[in-house]
Amino acid sequence: MSEGRYDAVVVGAGFAGTVIARELAERAGKKVLLIERRDHVGGNAYDLKDPNGILYHLYGPHIFHTKSERVYRYLSRFTEWLDYQHKVVANVHGTFLPVPFNKHSILTVFGSGRGQALIDKLIAAYGDGARVPIIELRNSNDPDLHELADYIYENIFLHYTMKQWGLAPEEVDPSVTARVPVLVSDDDRYFQDAYQGMPKDGYTPVFNALLDHPNITLKLSTDASSLLGLLDGQGRDATSDPAAGPVVRATLDGQPYEGAIVFTGAIDELLCRRFGPLPYRSLRFELELLDQDRFQPTATVNYTVSEDFTRITEWKQLTAQEVPGKTLITREYPQAYVPNAGMTPYYAILSDENNAIYQRYTDMLAGLPGFYLLGRLAEYRYYNMDVIVGRALELADSIIGDRA
Ligand code: FAD
Ligand code: UDP
Repeated sequence: MSEGRYDAVVVGAGFAGTVIARELAERAGKKVLLIERRDHVGGNAYDLKDPNGILYHLYGPHIFHTKSERVYRYLSRFTEWLDYQHKVVANVHGTFLPVPFNKHSILTVFGSGRGQALIDKLIAAYGDGARVPIIELRNSNDPDLHELADYIYENIFLHYTMKQWGLAPEEVDPSVTARVPVLVSDDDRYFQDAYQGMPKDGYTPVFNALLDHPNITLKLSTDASSLLGLLDGQGRDATSDPAAGPVVRATLDGQPYEGAIVFTGAIDELLCRRFGPLPYRSLRFELELLDQDRFQPTATVNYTVSEDFTRITEWKQLTAQEVPGKTLITREYPQAYVPNAGMTPYYAILSDENNAIYQRYTDMLAGLPGFYLLGRLAEYRYYNMDVIVGRALELADSIIGDRA
Protein backbone atom coordinates (compact mmCIF):
# COMPACT_ATOMS: atom_id res chain seq x y z
CA MET A 1 0.00 0.00 0.00
CA SER A 2 1.95 3.04 -1.18
CA GLU A 3 2.21 6.16 0.97
CA GLY A 4 -0.16 8.99 0.06
CA ARG A 5 -2.45 6.76 -1.93
CA TYR A 6 -5.45 7.36 0.31
CA ASP A 7 -6.94 10.70 1.38
CA ALA A 8 -9.18 9.09 3.97
CA VAL A 9 -9.21 5.85 5.96
CA VAL A 10 -12.53 4.65 7.34
CA VAL A 11 -12.70 1.79 9.84
CA GLY A 12 -15.92 -0.25 9.89
CA ALA A 13 -18.39 -0.87 7.06
CA GLY A 14 -21.65 -0.39 8.97
CA PHE A 15 -23.96 2.54 8.26
CA ALA A 16 -21.51 5.02 9.81
CA GLY A 17 -18.47 3.92 7.82
CA THR A 18 -20.27 3.22 4.57
CA VAL A 19 -22.11 6.54 4.39
CA ILE A 20 -19.06 8.62 5.32
CA ALA A 21 -16.94 6.68 2.81
CA ARG A 22 -19.45 7.34 0.05
CA GLU A 23 -19.77 11.02 0.92
CA LEU A 24 -16.01 11.64 1.05
CA ALA A 25 -15.53 9.72 -2.19
CA GLU A 26 -18.39 11.31 -4.09
CA ARG A 27 -18.71 14.84 -2.77
CA ALA A 28 -15.05 15.55 -2.06
CA GLY A 29 -13.42 13.25 -4.64
CA LYS A 30 -11.29 11.68 -1.90
CA LYS A 31 -9.65 8.30 -2.36
CA VAL A 32 -11.06 6.30 0.53
CA LEU A 33 -9.78 3.09 2.10
CA LEU A 34 -12.57 1.29 4.00
CA ILE A 35 -11.39 -1.41 6.40
CA GLU A 36 -13.80 -3.99 7.83
CA ARG A 37 -12.82 -6.87 10.07
CA ARG A 38 -15.84 -9.01 9.25
CA ASP A 39 -16.06 -10.84 5.92
CA HIS A 40 -19.09 -8.78 4.90
CA VAL A 41 -20.30 -5.18 4.76
CA GLY A 42 -23.33 -3.74 6.57
CA GLY A 43 -22.22 -3.88 10.20
CA ASN A 44 -25.07 -5.07 12.37
CA ALA A 45 -27.63 -4.30 9.65
CA TYR A 46 -26.22 -7.07 7.41
CA ASP A 47 -28.83 -9.45 6.01
CA LEU A 48 -28.70 -12.63 3.92
CA LYS A 49 -30.88 -15.50 2.72
CA ASP A 50 -31.11 -18.91 4.39
CA PRO A 51 -31.08 -22.11 2.24
CA ASN A 52 -34.86 -21.77 1.73
CA GLY A 53 -34.47 -18.28 0.38
CA ILE A 54 -35.79 -16.57 3.53
CA LEU A 55 -34.12 -13.19 4.04
CA TYR A 56 -33.01 -12.61 7.64
CA HIS A 57 -30.79 -10.25 9.64
CA LEU A 58 -27.78 -12.04 11.11
CA TYR A 59 -27.48 -9.60 14.03
CA GLY A 60 -31.11 -9.17 15.06
CA PRO A 61 -34.12 -7.39 13.57
CA HIS A 62 -33.46 -3.98 11.98
CA ILE A 63 -36.46 -1.86 11.08
CA PHE A 64 -35.83 1.43 9.36
CA HIS A 65 -37.69 4.45 10.72
CA THR A 66 -36.85 8.13 10.82
CA LYS A 67 -38.21 11.62 11.30
CA SER A 68 -35.44 13.00 9.11
CA GLU A 69 -36.40 13.81 5.56
CA ARG A 70 -32.73 14.25 4.69
CA VAL A 71 -31.85 10.72 5.84
CA TYR A 72 -34.86 9.18 4.11
CA ARG A 73 -34.14 11.01 0.84
CA TYR A 74 -30.47 10.08 1.01
CA LEU A 75 -31.06 6.35 1.49
CA SER A 76 -33.78 6.42 -1.16
CA ARG A 77 -31.00 7.05 -3.69
CA PHE A 78 -29.75 3.54 -2.94
CA THR A 79 -32.96 1.55 -2.44
CA GLU A 80 -36.66 1.39 -3.02
CA TRP A 81 -38.77 0.72 0.06
CA LEU A 82 -41.19 -1.95 1.11
CA ASP A 83 -44.03 -0.24 2.98
CA TYR A 84 -43.75 -1.86 6.39
CA GLN A 85 -45.08 -0.57 9.72
CA HIS A 86 -43.55 -2.58 12.56
CA LYS A 87 -45.93 -3.94 15.20
CA VAL A 88 -44.89 -5.71 18.39
CA VAL A 89 -46.94 -7.50 21.02
CA ALA A 90 -45.84 -8.63 24.45
CA ASN A 91 -46.64 -12.20 25.41
CA VAL A 92 -47.93 -11.75 28.99
CA HIS A 93 -48.86 -15.19 30.29
CA GLY A 94 -50.27 -16.12 26.88
CA THR A 95 -52.16 -12.84 26.26
CA PHE A 96 -50.78 -10.66 23.50
CA LEU A 97 -50.67 -6.96 24.42
CA PRO A 98 -49.61 -4.23 21.96
CA VAL A 99 -46.25 -2.61 22.80
CA PRO A 100 -45.72 0.30 23.27
CA PHE A 101 -48.47 -0.19 25.84
CA ASN A 102 -51.38 1.84 24.42
CA LYS A 103 -55.14 2.33 24.66
CA HIS A 104 -55.77 -1.11 23.13
CA SER A 105 -53.45 -2.73 25.67
CA ILE A 106 -55.25 -0.95 28.52
CA LEU A 107 -58.70 -2.04 27.32
CA THR A 108 -57.49 -5.65 26.90
CA VAL A 109 -56.08 -5.81 30.43
CA PHE A 110 -58.64 -3.74 32.34
CA GLY A 111 -61.84 -4.23 30.29
CA SER A 112 -63.91 -1.54 28.66
CA GLY A 113 -65.31 0.18 31.80
CA ARG A 114 -62.25 0.51 34.02
CA GLY A 115 -59.98 0.61 30.98
CA GLN A 116 -61.78 3.63 29.54
CA ALA A 117 -61.69 5.37 32.94
CA LEU A 118 -57.91 4.87 33.04
CA ILE A 119 -57.55 6.16 29.48
CA ASP A 120 -59.60 9.27 30.41
CA LYS A 121 -57.32 9.88 33.38
CA LEU A 122 -54.21 9.47 31.21
CA ILE A 123 -55.59 11.96 28.70
CA ALA A 124 -56.44 14.44 31.48
CA ALA A 125 -52.95 14.11 33.00
CA TYR A 126 -50.74 13.96 29.90
CA GLY A 127 -52.91 14.81 26.87
CA ASP A 128 -54.29 12.61 24.10
CA GLY A 129 -51.45 11.28 21.94
CA ALA A 130 -48.84 11.77 24.69
CA ARG A 131 -45.78 9.52 24.98
CA VAL A 132 -45.19 8.93 28.68
CA PRO A 133 -42.01 7.19 29.87
CA ILE A 134 -42.82 4.43 32.37
CA ILE A 135 -40.49 5.99 34.94
CA GLU A 136 -42.53 9.21 34.72
CA LEU A 137 -45.88 7.40 34.91
CA ARG A 138 -44.72 5.63 38.06
CA ASN A 139 -44.30 9.03 39.72
CA SER A 140 -48.00 9.82 39.26
CA ASN A 141 -49.79 10.77 42.48
CA ASP A 142 -53.12 9.56 41.16
CA PRO A 143 -53.81 6.13 42.74
CA ASP A 144 -55.47 4.75 39.57
CA LEU A 145 -52.63 5.89 37.32
CA HIS A 146 -50.16 4.57 39.86
CA GLU A 147 -51.84 1.17 39.72
CA LEU A 148 -51.75 1.27 35.92
CA ALA A 149 -48.05 2.20 36.03
CA ASP A 150 -47.33 -0.68 38.41
CA TYR A 151 -49.08 -3.12 36.09
CA ILE A 152 -47.11 -1.92 33.04
CA TYR A 153 -43.85 -1.78 34.99
CA GLU A 154 -44.25 -5.32 36.30
CA ASN A 155 -45.61 -6.94 33.13
CA ILE A 156 -43.83 -5.08 30.34
CA PHE A 157 -40.63 -3.52 31.67
CA LEU A 158 -39.24 -5.24 34.75
CA HIS A 159 -38.39 -8.74 33.54
CA TYR A 160 -37.59 -7.72 29.96
CA THR A 161 -35.17 -5.05 31.21
CA MET A 162 -33.63 -7.44 33.74
CA LYS A 163 -32.97 -9.87 30.89
CA GLN A 164 -31.74 -7.25 28.44
CA TRP A 165 -29.48 -5.28 30.79
CA GLY A 166 -29.10 -7.40 33.91
CA LEU A 167 -30.49 -4.30 35.67
CA ALA A 168 -33.91 -3.08 36.86
CA PRO A 169 -35.59 -0.30 34.81
CA GLU A 170 -34.73 2.35 37.42
CA GLU A 171 -31.06 1.31 37.24
CA VAL A 172 -30.66 1.86 33.48
CA ASP A 173 -30.32 5.32 31.96
CA PRO A 174 -33.86 6.81 31.75
CA SER A 175 -33.45 7.39 28.00
CA VAL A 176 -33.35 3.60 27.47
CA THR A 177 -36.84 2.70 28.71
CA ALA A 178 -38.16 6.05 27.37
CA ARG A 179 -37.53 4.61 23.87
CA VAL A 180 -40.70 2.57 24.43
CA PRO A 181 -43.09 4.98 26.22
CA VAL A 182 -46.67 4.36 27.29
CA LEU A 183 -48.61 5.65 24.32
CA VAL A 184 -51.87 7.53 24.95
CA SER A 185 -53.10 6.48 21.53
CA ASP A 186 -54.84 3.83 19.41
CA ASP A 187 -51.70 3.56 17.26
CA ASP A 188 -50.48 -0.05 17.47
CA ARG A 189 -47.23 0.61 15.61
CA TYR A 190 -43.89 0.26 17.41
CA PHE A 191 -42.59 3.48 15.84
CA GLN A 192 -44.49 6.66 15.02
CA ASP A 193 -41.88 8.25 12.73
CA ALA A 194 -43.09 9.79 9.46
CA TYR A 195 -40.81 7.60 7.34
CA GLN A 196 -40.62 3.85 7.94
CA GLY A 197 -40.14 0.74 5.88
CA MET A 198 -37.71 -1.97 4.87
CA PRO A 199 -35.26 -1.75 1.96
CA LYS A 200 -37.05 -3.56 -0.86
CA ASP A 201 -34.26 -6.07 -1.56
CA GLY A 202 -32.76 -6.06 1.94
CA TYR A 203 -30.00 -4.05 3.64
CA THR A 204 -26.93 -5.69 2.13
CA PRO A 205 -27.75 -4.43 -1.40
CA VAL A 206 -28.06 -0.91 0.07
CA PHE A 207 -24.49 -1.18 1.37
CA ASN A 208 -23.24 -2.60 -1.91
CA ALA A 209 -24.86 0.33 -3.75
CA LEU A 210 -23.34 2.86 -1.31
CA LEU A 211 -19.90 1.35 -1.85
CA ASP A 212 -20.20 1.17 -5.61
CA HIS A 213 -17.92 4.13 -6.27
CA PRO A 214 -14.52 4.15 -8.03
CA ASN A 215 -12.89 6.19 -5.24
CA ILE A 216 -13.66 3.58 -2.56
CA THR A 217 -11.36 0.62 -1.88
CA LEU A 218 -12.93 -1.94 0.47
CA LYS A 219 -10.78 -4.35 2.47
CA LEU A 220 -12.86 -7.03 4.18
CA SER A 221 -11.57 -9.47 6.83
CA THR A 222 -9.02 -6.82 7.85
CA ASP A 223 -8.71 -5.47 11.37
CA ALA A 224 -7.70 -1.81 11.68
CA SER A 225 -4.95 -2.86 14.08
CA SER A 226 -3.13 -4.59 11.21
CA LEU A 227 -2.84 -1.33 9.22
CA LEU A 228 -3.32 1.67 11.48
CA GLY A 229 -0.84 3.03 14.00
CA LEU A 230 -1.57 5.88 16.43
CA LEU A 231 1.67 7.28 17.81
CA ASP A 232 2.42 9.53 20.76
CA GLY A 233 5.14 12.20 20.82
CA GLN A 234 7.78 9.56 21.53
CA GLY A 235 6.68 7.25 18.73
CA ARG A 236 4.92 4.73 21.02
CA ASP A 237 1.85 3.16 19.37
CA ALA A 238 -1.27 3.66 21.52
CA THR A 239 -3.06 0.81 19.70
CA SER A 240 -0.67 -1.71 21.23
CA ASP A 241 1.27 0.03 24.03
CA PRO A 242 -0.74 0.87 27.17
CA ALA A 243 2.07 3.19 28.31
CA ALA A 244 1.71 5.46 25.24
CA GLY A 245 0.70 9.09 25.84
CA PRO A 246 -1.72 11.28 23.87
CA VAL A 247 -1.73 10.48 20.17
CA VAL A 248 -0.16 13.08 17.86
CA ARG A 249 0.36 11.30 14.55
CA ALA A 250 -0.80 8.27 12.60
CA THR A 251 0.69 5.60 10.37
CA LEU A 252 -0.93 3.52 7.67
CA ASP A 253 0.73 0.23 6.86
CA GLY A 254 3.83 1.45 8.69
CA GLN A 255 4.12 4.73 6.70
CA PRO A 256 3.34 8.23 8.03
CA TYR A 257 -0.27 9.07 7.23
CA GLU A 258 -1.77 12.56 7.40
CA GLY A 259 -5.19 12.10 5.79
CA ALA A 260 -8.54 11.87 7.53
CA ILE A 261 -9.32 8.85 9.71
CA VAL A 262 -12.92 7.98 10.60
CA PHE A 263 -13.12 5.24 13.19
CA THR A 264 -16.49 3.54 13.82
CA GLY A 265 -15.45 0.66 16.11
CA ALA A 266 -15.06 0.44 19.89
CA ILE A 267 -12.63 3.07 21.15
CA ASP A 268 -11.51 1.14 24.25
CA GLU A 269 -10.50 -1.75 22.04
CA LEU A 270 -8.67 0.60 19.65
CA LEU A 271 -6.58 1.94 22.52
CA CYS A 272 -5.84 -1.53 24.00
CA ARG A 273 -8.27 -0.89 26.90
CA ARG A 274 -5.62 1.14 28.69
CA PHE A 275 -8.22 2.83 30.93
CA GLY A 276 -10.09 -0.43 31.47
CA PRO A 277 -12.84 -1.97 29.34
CA LEU A 278 -15.90 0.11 28.50
CA PRO A 279 -18.95 -1.95 29.52
CA TYR A 280 -21.26 -3.22 26.76
CA ARG A 281 -24.17 -5.60 26.56
CA SER A 282 -23.98 -8.42 24.04
CA LEU A 283 -26.52 -10.81 22.51
CA ARG A 284 -26.62 -14.40 21.32
CA PHE A 285 -28.95 -15.09 18.39
CA GLU A 286 -30.61 -18.49 18.02
CA LEU A 287 -32.04 -19.26 14.60
CA GLU A 288 -34.72 -21.92 14.09
CA LEU A 289 -36.43 -23.14 10.92
CA LEU A 290 -39.99 -24.38 11.46
CA ASP A 291 -42.17 -26.48 9.15
CA GLN A 292 -45.18 -24.20 9.29
CA ASP A 293 -46.42 -21.17 7.39
CA ARG A 294 -46.60 -18.78 10.31
CA PHE A 295 -45.42 -18.86 13.90
CA GLN A 296 -46.67 -15.76 15.74
CA PRO A 297 -49.16 -12.86 15.47
CA THR A 298 -46.67 -10.08 14.69
CA ALA A 299 -43.16 -9.98 13.22
CA THR A 300 -41.72 -9.52 16.72
CA VAL A 301 -43.15 -10.83 19.99
CA ASN A 302 -41.57 -9.62 23.24
CA TYR A 303 -41.45 -12.08 26.14
CA THR A 304 -41.91 -9.68 29.01
CA VAL A 305 -42.75 -12.01 31.92
CA SER A 306 -41.22 -15.35 30.98
CA GLU A 307 -38.34 -17.10 29.13
CA ASP A 308 -34.60 -16.36 29.07
CA PHE A 309 -34.76 -14.70 25.67
CA THR A 310 -36.20 -11.21 25.22
CA ARG A 311 -37.95 -11.52 21.88
CA ILE A 312 -38.67 -13.70 18.88
CA THR A 313 -38.67 -12.28 15.36
CA GLU A 314 -40.32 -14.13 12.49
CA TRP A 315 -38.44 -13.02 9.40
CA LYS A 316 -41.03 -13.68 6.72
CA GLN A 317 -43.40 -11.20 8.38
CA LEU A 318 -40.79 -8.48 8.56
CA THR A 319 -40.15 -8.46 4.85
CA ALA A 320 -43.47 -9.78 3.42
CA GLN A 321 -41.91 -12.98 2.10
CA GLU A 322 -43.93 -15.86 0.65
CA VAL A 323 -42.22 -19.18 1.42
CA PRO A 324 -44.99 -21.77 1.88
CA GLY A 325 -44.67 -24.40 4.62
CA LYS A 326 -41.54 -22.94 6.22
CA THR A 327 -40.79 -20.08 8.52
CA LEU A 328 -37.56 -18.87 10.14
CA ILE A 329 -37.40 -17.33 13.61
CA THR A 330 -34.65 -15.79 15.76
CA ARG A 331 -34.59 -15.72 19.57
CA GLU A 332 -32.41 -13.06 21.23
CA TYR A 333 -30.55 -14.00 24.41
CA PRO A 334 -28.85 -11.03 26.10
CA GLN A 335 -25.52 -11.59 27.80
CA ALA A 336 -22.73 -9.64 29.46
CA TYR A 337 -20.03 -8.61 27.01
CA VAL A 338 -16.68 -10.19 27.82
CA PRO A 339 -13.67 -8.73 25.94
CA ASN A 340 -11.53 -11.11 23.88
CA ALA A 341 -14.11 -13.90 24.11
CA GLY A 342 -15.39 -13.76 20.54
CA MET A 343 -18.46 -11.72 21.49
CA THR A 344 -19.83 -8.62 19.77
CA PRO A 345 -20.47 -5.44 21.79
CA TYR A 346 -24.00 -4.43 20.72
CA TYR A 347 -25.16 -1.90 23.31
CA ALA A 348 -23.20 0.73 25.25
CA ILE A 349 -24.23 0.71 28.90
CA LEU A 350 -24.96 4.38 29.49
CA SER A 351 -23.99 5.86 32.86
CA ASP A 352 -22.03 8.84 34.17
CA GLU A 353 -19.27 6.52 35.31
CA ASN A 354 -18.94 4.86 31.89
CA ASN A 355 -19.13 8.22 30.11
CA ALA A 356 -16.19 9.37 32.23
CA ILE A 357 -14.13 6.36 31.07
CA TYR A 358 -15.18 7.08 27.50
CA GLN A 359 -14.02 10.68 27.89
CA ARG A 360 -10.54 9.52 28.95
CA TYR A 361 -10.26 7.54 25.72
CA THR A 362 -11.42 10.43 23.53
CA ASP A 363 -8.97 12.77 25.28
CA MET A 364 -6.13 10.49 24.12
CA LEU A 365 -7.09 11.21 20.51
CA ALA A 366 -8.03 14.90 20.75
CA GLY A 367 -4.59 16.05 19.55
CA LEU A 368 -4.60 14.06 16.31
CA PRO A 369 -5.77 16.31 13.46
CA GLY A 370 -8.34 14.78 11.10
CA PHE A 371 -9.31 11.93 13.44
CA TYR A 372 -13.06 11.42 13.88
CA LEU A 373 -15.12 9.04 16.00
CA LEU A 374 -18.45 8.19 14.39
CA GLY A 375 -21.10 5.57 15.12
CA ARG A 376 -22.81 3.63 17.83
CA LEU A 377 -19.66 2.01 19.21
CA ALA A 378 -17.19 4.81 18.56
CA GLU A 379 -19.47 7.41 20.18
CA TYR A 380 -20.58 4.99 22.92
CA ARG A 381 -24.25 5.91 22.41
CA TYR A 382 -27.58 4.13 21.84
CA TYR A 383 -28.12 5.32 18.26
CA ASN A 384 -30.57 3.94 15.73
CA MET A 385 -29.55 3.47 12.10
CA ASP A 386 -31.16 6.68 10.89
CA VAL A 387 -29.35 8.75 13.50
CA ILE A 388 -26.07 7.20 12.42
CA VAL A 389 -26.77 8.01 8.76
CA GLY A 390 -27.68 11.59 9.74
CA ARG A 391 -24.50 11.97 11.79
CA ALA A 392 -22.39 10.58 8.94
CA LEU A 393 -23.92 13.12 6.55
CA GLU A 394 -23.28 15.93 9.02
CA LEU A 395 -19.69 14.83 9.57
CA ALA A 396 -19.21 14.82 5.81
CA ASP A 397 -20.67 18.35 5.67
CA SER A 398 -18.17 19.50 8.24
CA ILE A 399 -15.12 17.74 6.75
CA ILE A 400 -15.95 18.88 3.22
CA GLY A 401 -17.02 22.34 4.37
CA ASP A 402 -20.47 22.50 2.82
CA ARG A 403 -23.82 20.78 2.86
CA ALA A 404 -25.03 18.50 0.05
P1 FAD B 1 -22.01 -1.22 13.29
O1 FAD B 1 -23.19 -1.55 12.49
O2 FAD B 1 -21.75 -1.90 14.56
O3 FAD B 1 -20.73 -1.22 12.37
C1 FAD B 1 -19.43 -1.10 12.86
C2 FAD B 1 -18.53 -1.97 12.00
O4 FAD B 1 -17.17 -1.71 12.36
C3 FAD B 1 -18.77 -3.45 12.20
O5 FAD B 1 -19.00 -4.07 10.96
C4 FAD B 1 -17.46 -3.94 12.83
O6 FAD B 1 -17.11 -5.25 12.43
C5 FAD B 1 -16.45 -2.92 12.31
N1 FAD B 1 -15.28 -2.78 13.15
C6 FAD B 1 -15.25 -2.49 14.48
N2 FAD B 1 -13.97 -2.42 14.91
C7 FAD B 1 -13.18 -2.67 13.83
C8 FAD B 1 -11.77 -2.74 13.66
N3 FAD B 1 -10.93 -2.56 14.67
N4 FAD B 1 -11.30 -3.00 12.42
C9 FAD B 1 -12.14 -3.19 11.38
N5 FAD B 1 -13.49 -3.15 11.50
C10 FAD B 1 -13.99 -2.88 12.72
N6 FAD B 1 -31.51 0.53 14.56
C11 FAD B 1 -32.63 0.94 13.94
O7 FAD B 1 -32.69 2.05 13.41
N7 FAD B 1 -33.74 0.12 13.87
C12 FAD B 1 -33.75 -1.12 14.42
O8 FAD B 1 -34.77 -1.84 14.36
C13 FAD B 1 -32.56 -1.58 15.09
N8 FAD B 1 -32.54 -2.80 15.64
C14 FAD B 1 -31.39 -3.22 16.24
C15 FAD B 1 -31.39 -4.51 16.79
C16 FAD B 1 -30.25 -4.99 17.41
C17 FAD B 1 -30.25 -6.37 18.00
C18 FAD B 1 -29.09 -4.15 17.51
C19 FAD B 1 -27.86 -4.65 18.21
C20 FAD B 1 -29.10 -2.87 16.96
C21 FAD B 1 -30.25 -2.40 16.33
N9 FAD B 1 -30.29 -1.13 15.74
C22 FAD B 1 -31.44 -0.70 15.13
C23 FAD B 1 -29.13 -0.23 15.79
C24 FAD B 1 -28.21 -0.39 14.58
O9 FAD B 1 -27.66 -1.68 14.57
C25 FAD B 1 -27.12 0.65 14.67
O10 FAD B 1 -27.65 1.97 14.75
C26 FAD B 1 -26.17 0.64 13.47
O11 FAD B 1 -25.80 -0.66 13.13
C27 FAD B 1 -24.96 1.44 13.83
O12 FAD B 1 -24.10 1.50 12.72
P2 FAD B 1 -22.56 1.70 12.97
O13 FAD B 1 -21.92 1.78 11.64
O14 FAD B 1 -22.31 2.77 13.96
O15 FAD B 1 -22.09 0.37 13.73
N1 UDP C 1 -38.37 -2.55 27.02
C1 UDP C 1 -39.04 -3.36 27.91
N2 UDP C 1 -40.06 -4.15 27.45
C2 UDP C 1 -40.43 -4.17 26.16
C3 UDP C 1 -39.74 -3.35 25.24
C4 UDP C 1 -38.70 -2.55 25.70
O1 UDP C 1 -38.71 -3.39 29.10
O2 UDP C 1 -41.36 -4.91 25.81
C5 UDP C 1 -37.28 -1.70 27.54
C6 UDP C 1 -35.96 -2.47 27.68
O3 UDP C 1 -35.24 -1.93 28.76
C7 UDP C 1 -35.29 -2.18 26.36
C8 UDP C 1 -35.66 -0.71 26.15
O4 UDP C 1 -37.02 -0.63 26.64
O5 UDP C 1 -33.89 -2.38 26.43
C9 UDP C 1 -35.58 -0.22 24.73
O6 UDP C 1 -36.35 -1.07 23.90
P1 UDP C 1 -36.08 -1.15 22.33
O7 UDP C 1 -37.16 -2.00 21.73
O8 UDP C 1 -35.92 0.22 21.81
O9 UDP C 1 -34.69 -1.92 22.29
P2 UDP C 1 -33.80 -2.43 21.06
O10 UDP C 1 -34.73 -2.78 19.93
O11 UDP C 1 -32.88 -1.29 20.75
O12 UDP C 1 -33.08 -3.61 21.63
